[in-house]
Amino acid sequence: MRIPIDRSLTTPLYRQIETWLKENISSGGLAPGTRLPASRVLADELGVSRITVKNAYAGLESDGLILTREGSGTYVMPPTADSTRGSEDDALTWPLWQVEAAGEPQPRVDPGRPQYRHPQLISFTGVGDPRLFPLRDFAHTLQDVLHRDGLSALEYGAFGGGYGPLRETVTHVLASQGIQAHPQNVLITSGSQQALALACQVLLKAGDVVVVEKPTYNMALDLFRFLGLKMIGVPVDEGGMQIDGLETLLQQVHPRLIYTIPNFQNPSGACMSGARRRQLLALAQRYNVPILEDDFVGDLRYEGHGQPAIKALDGGGHVIYVGTFSKMLMPGLRVGYLLANGPIFKRLVDQKQAQDLTTAPLMQRALDRYVTVGRYQAHLRRTTRLYRARRDAMLGAIRRHLPGVRVLPPQGGLFAWLKLPDGLSSLRLLPLALEAGVEFAPGTRFFPLPGEGEPFLRLNFAACTPEEIEQGMLRLGQVLRRMEG
Ligand code: PMP
Repeated sequence: MRIPIDRSLTTPLYRQIETWLKENISSGGLAPGTRLPASRVLADELGVSRITVKNAYAGLESDGLILTREGSGTYVMPPTADSTRGSEDDALTWPLWQVEAAGEPQPRVDPGRPQYRHPQLISFTGVGDPRLFPLRDFAHTLQDVLHRDGLSALEYGAFGGGYGPLRETVTHVLASQGIQAHPQNVLITSGSQQALALACQVLLKAGDVVVVEKPTYNMALDLFRFLGLKMIGVPVDEGGMQIDGLETLLQQVHPRLIYTIPNFQNPSGACMSGARRRQLLALAQRYNVPILEDDFVGDLRYEGHGQPAIKALDGGGHVIYVGTFSKMLMPGLRVGYLLANGPIFKRLVDQKQAQDLTTAPLMQRALDRYVTVGRYQAHLRRTTRLYRARRDAMLGAIRRHLPGVRVLPPQGGLFAWLKLPDGLSSLRLLPLALEAGVEFAPGTRFFPLPGEGEPFLRLNFAACTPEEIEQGMLRLGQVLRRMEG
């Protein structure tokens, strides 16, 4: 079996063998029932140690792709019932209610992934850098909490707005960002994604119009789509959402919600100017439309002056403010929060309770113990320093390797938003880039309507080292030149 392995790569040899076999099994090249060579034989053929082959086989076996029968050999397994079901297209095999529930197929905004996966893919998708997660400290914190609180850490705890001390801690974190809040107006949610969903569920019904920035956060767009909302996009420039045409829109289409990410917007990186924040709030007040303010990385600023949160300018309950610990700490905790004043707060609490009773109480306690303001600020300073250097590396590499590409230099946050030279499409670029070992998010994901955003792409610079950024942009530049030429 001639498995191509490359010793110059940092990918371990067992992983290269495992990946090659996995791809060939899933493509059908190695049919079910095929007997794989004994580990000793394959090791000799490839010039690797036997343990290397055994490790590769162990990985495949735990994925259910092969089976070793003592004394008989190692065989490729037939596809499982689950995997055949997943790929089943024939709707007639499903009950009618399933077909109805599936609805119309959605237009695809992305090309499919190519079969081939570059062994040293540099990915500029995602958010933040998992290598910064405070793993050891957090493990200790969890132990401390279990030791301190015993069984009560494993109970539901009080429902309502969440774990009391954490609600208070959130107000301290917010105060350090210039937002005054009272714990009784803080609702702890399962990530800020849930906070966005709760606000929409309480305020809107299918068919209602929501104003969104164009471009905006793709999973918020998905949420709005799932809820059957109509989206009207307002363009974003380097000063954030363009407010000029908004008043006419408010008069003509009567939106029921304005969704905005004023700081280091996802995906454009733009920051809304102070003047626009005030104008937006004034318009929302005049036309009686709530603002949903998503501040997912508001405190990750590399230069310039911070603008007040729209919530901080709002004395009268016009703004529902949403924040998260996902970006500064760890997204896997699934802890976010919202801040709301007035009767809507109780509606949000009740909605949350009906949906999932409570956000994982153990995580709330652990997070509260972990996040003292001092520790949060220290972590923020360290992350800011590191991500700023990565942002600079990204802007430099774009200048060097991507001539003709325009970029909005972000003053904070995680993303660089690029516009390709005229006539080029990020959707057509993506499969070629993946083949060359670099991944990005095509602009189409971030626009409300299909067909918009093709000339744009989003790069997350925060998750990669300056060396990876340089290498990634070099590869992207080569692909672009091939496309242009
Ligand atoms: N808002 C924005 C703008 C985001 O980018 C994300 C996640 N990428 C979220 C909200 C949701 O994050 P979480 O649910 O992890 O708090």
